Amino acid sequence: MNAVNGIKNKSIVHWFRNDQRVTDHEILSRLDDFTEVTAFYVHQDKYTALHPLNFEWVSKKRKIFLNESLQELAAKLDVLGVDFHIFNNVKELHESAILKTKTLTYQRCYGTEERKQETAVLKLHSEAVYTFDHFTLVDQNNLPFELHQMPKTFTPFKNKVGESGAYSKTIALPPLPKNSISFELKGGENPALNRLKYYLYDSHHIATYKETRNGMVGTDYSSRLSPWLALGNISARTVFDYIVHYENTIVSNASTYWLIFELLWRDFFQLQLQLHGNTFFQKGGIQRKVISSKQDKHLFEQWMYGHTGDDLVDANMRELNATGWMSNRGRQNVASYLIHDLGIDWRWGAAYLESQLIDYDPASNYGNWMYIAGVGHDPRPFRKFNTKGQAERYDADKTYRNLWLK
Ligand SMILES: Cc1cc2nc3c(=O)[nH]c(=O)nc-3n(C[C@H](O)[C@H](O)[C@H](O)COP(=O)(O)OP(=O)(O)OC[C@H]3O[C@@H](n4cnc5c(N)ncnc54)[C@H](O)[C@@H]3O)c2cc1C
Repeated sequence: MNAVNGIKNKSIVHWFRNDQRVTDHEILSRLDDFTEVTAFYVHQDKYTALHPLNFEWVSKKRKIFLNESLQELAAKLDVLGVDFHIFNNVKELHESAILKTKTLTYQRCYGTEERKQETAVLKLHSEAVYTFDHFTLVDQNNLPFELHQMPKTFTPFKNKVGESGAYSKTIALPPLPKNSISFELKGGENPALNRLKYYLYDSHHIATYKETRNGMVGTDYSSRLSPWLALGNISARTVFDYIVHYENTIVSNASTYWLIFELLWRDFFQLQLQLHGNTFFQKGGIQRKVISSKQDKHLFEQWMYGHTGDDLVDANMRELNATGWMSNRGRQNVASYLIHDLGIDWRWGAAYLESQLIDYDPASNYGNWMYIAGVGHDPRPFRKFNTKGQAERYDADKTYRNLWLK
């Protein structure tokens, strides 16, 4: 018997957070277990707020992607007969009285803002609550270690999880579309499944992922699944199951393994955020290290707008500002440059990427920034990238830089 069957009050109100899909979903996949299901989403306070440096915490491009996801979800819920409400803030939720006498269900989120919102929602609700942790690939009820004893660095974490095979099971594997187009940056479950189909079975790019993953030009050097994973339009376990199916039916090689390896990096940061909470967002990071930095707005703005004079950094920042996207290679370089070349507070950079990145996720963003700043999980004291050397190595013929700087 699964835990959902144990819910006594079968009248459910489900709070959608980063689980914006109807397939492979704890509640929606089991609609028949309930007598009544209503659902809601509440925007976070940051949705309309400005960062002290005067940029929006959530850029227009992020808002568009999120709203596309919510619209698709609303349409799918309508077909399933689930009444869905979107609130601008917790006050509106309160006024709606939607929570009354029902069991509240939701996926847990561990960022500071997300926890604050959870506290505010729970204050409005006196009935039973049922929560689940289905954001990660690892099965959180079956970890091969206690969370507080989890390995502090990635390699032993990955090895332990790999050995124990503690992966979460997909509830119901969503079918992939028959035909795919290469890439449609649109929020929602359908575009997510389209991309998965394309990246695996239609283009077979997955089979060369290890060789292409450091690329910066085009949309095919990596899976590009992160925006949909961030909103839960697709679950990590569904991606995993299809990779394993691909390995069993088409080819299993270093590249297919490497995509799973990257999903485990994602899990590593998710679990570390659960463990360390608010220190993820503080200057000294989880190491609580004392570090010095400048708070120079002029230099920061040059970085933000892609006017530093370093052409690799500038090209990447311009791509980010124009599209809401940057490759992993680009992210490492712009972060290192801001921290180690300009000497600026890493949290300013992390906040700006939070604002702009369509795939923003608190654990992945702040975890990676901490890592490069040397206050996170890296066994090395810090990671400085030589941006000139990186440009030579990864963009020798300047195709990428010319694309964004000319
Ligand atoms: C400074 C910085 C900030 C970042 N901010 C974010 C963020 O806000 N949201 C986000 O999803 N990722 C973030 N990343 C991680 C990584 O850059 C992106 O996940 C990746 O580039 C997304 O592209 P993809 O889906 O094609 O990834 P692939 O290369 O195809 O990898 C597959 C999946 O594995 C996961 N993954 C890969 N690399 C990492 C990593 N280093 N850390 C965590 N998960 C990873 C992602 O879910 C990704 O979709 C950041 C990295 C850096 C260096």
